[in-house]
Amino acid sequence: MFVASTGSATKKALPELVEGGPQSPVPSPHTPLPMSLQSRKINIANKVTLGGDTPVIIQTMWKDRLSFSDLNDDLVKRIEGLGAMGCGLLRFSVPDLDTAEVLGALAKLVSMPLVADIHFDHKIALRCMDFPIAKIRINPGNIGGREKVRAVLEKASERGVALRIGVNAGSLPQDLRSKTPCSSVSSVVKNLAEALVEAAERELAIFDEFGFTNALVSMKASNLADTIKANRLLAERSDVPLHIGVTEAGPLVAGVARSSAALVPLLAQGIGDTLRVSLSDSVENEVIAAREILGAAAEIAAINGGPDAETRVSRLKRGGVTIISCPRCGRHGFDTHGFCGRWLTRLYALNRTITIAIMGCEVNGPEEARHADIGITGAGDKVLIFRRGVIVRTVTQAEADAAFEEELTR
Ligand code: SF4
Repeated sequence: MFVASTGSATKKALPELVEGGPQSPVPSPHTPLPMSLQSRKINIANKVTLGGDTPVIIQTMWKDRLSFSDLNDDLVKRIEGLGAMGCGLLRFSVPDLDTAEVLGALAKLVSMPLVADIHFDHKIALRCMDFPIAKIRINPGNIGGREKVRAVLEKASERGVALRIGVNAGSLPQDLRSKTPCSSVSSVVKNLAEALVEAAERELAIFDEFGFTNALVSMKASNLADTIKANRLLAERSDVPLHIGVTEAGPLVAGVARSSAALVPLLAQGIGDTLRVSLSDSVENEVIAAREILGAAAEIAAINGGPDAETRVSRLKRGGVTIISCPRCGRHGFDTHGFCGRWLTRLYALNRTITIAIMGCEVNGPEEARHADIGITGAGDKVLIFRRGVIVRTVTQAEADAAFEEELTR
C-alpha cells in the first residue's frame, strides 16, 4: 500500500524558462516571507518525524566507502558519538549491492538512522530496504522506467522508508541544463534556481502519480543565491519537506562561512526541515557547523519575529554546549587553540545545556568566566578554573586538562 496522497505536492506550474529572457533580481537573504511555509510531516522508518513543526534535523554523510572489515567497535563508537553531538541522520554512498550488504549489517549495530545514497540502480534500493534503513536518496526519473519506480515505491511504502529526491546543479537533466545560460551571473542565478525547482517538480510528479508522499526534496548548488532562491521557490509552491545545504561548499572555514550565509536566512524564515553542511572536512565538524548554523538561525528568527516566529525558533533551538573562546594573542598564558582542538567534539557531545569559557589570559578571562558555568583561563604561568565566576582551582599548564575534566564531571 502506498502512503495516501494529500494531493499534488506541486501547487502550481513553474513559468516557462526562457533563454536570455527578462531576469528577476538576486534574492536578498533577508527578504521576509509573505506566508507560513510549514511543510508536511513525514515519517522516517518509524524512527524520526521530519517536517511540520518538528525540530530541524542535522545530518552528515560518511566520507569513505564501507567494507565489512570496517564494521568494528571503533566505527560504532564514532557513529554513536555523532548521535550524541546532535546528528540525527547519517548517509552513506551505496554504489553497488556489496555496499548495500555492508550498510545493512551496520544498520543492525547502531542506533543512528542510516540513509542510503543510490543512483540509477533500483535493485540496490530494493536490497537496502530489506534492512533497517531509514531513508533512501534516489531520483525516480533516473532509475529506468515505470515498473522499477513502482517496485521501489511499493517497497518503501511497506517498510515506511522515506525517499529523498536530490537535485544538484551539476546533474540537471539535459534540457534544463541548456536553459541555464552562462552569459552573465544574473542570468545564471535566475534560470539555474528555476531549473533546479523544475527538475525537483518533475521528480515529485512521478511520486504524485503513484500517490507516494513520504518524500522530501533537496536542491543544491554551490552558488548561494541559487540555493536560497530555489528553496524559497519550492517552499512557496509545495509543502514537501526540504533538505537544505550548499553543495561542494569548500574546506572547513570557507565551507562554514558559505553554508551559514545561505542556510541561516532560509532556516530563520522557516524553510528547511533537515540540513547538511558539506565540508571538505570531518563528519564531526559538519555536525558542529550545522549545530552552530541552527543556533544562529534561531537568534535571527527571534529578532525578525513575525508570524509563526515562536514555532520557527523552537524548531531551530538546541540545548547543549555554548563555547565562548578567545582568539588568543601575545598575552596568552593558556593555549586556547590547543585546548579547543582537544576538547571540541567531547564538549559538543555533552548531554546538558552549559556555557564554557576558554580564555587565554586574565585580561578578559575572569570577566567572561563570570557569565559561564565553567571557565578556564590563563593567569601568568598558572591556569585558573572558574565555576560561575568563582575561582575553584589554580593549577599548572600540565594539570589543566585533568582539572577541567574533574570540574566538568563534578
Ligand atoms: Fe589575548 Fe587574553 Fe584576550 Fe585571549 S583573553 S585574546 S589572550 S587578551
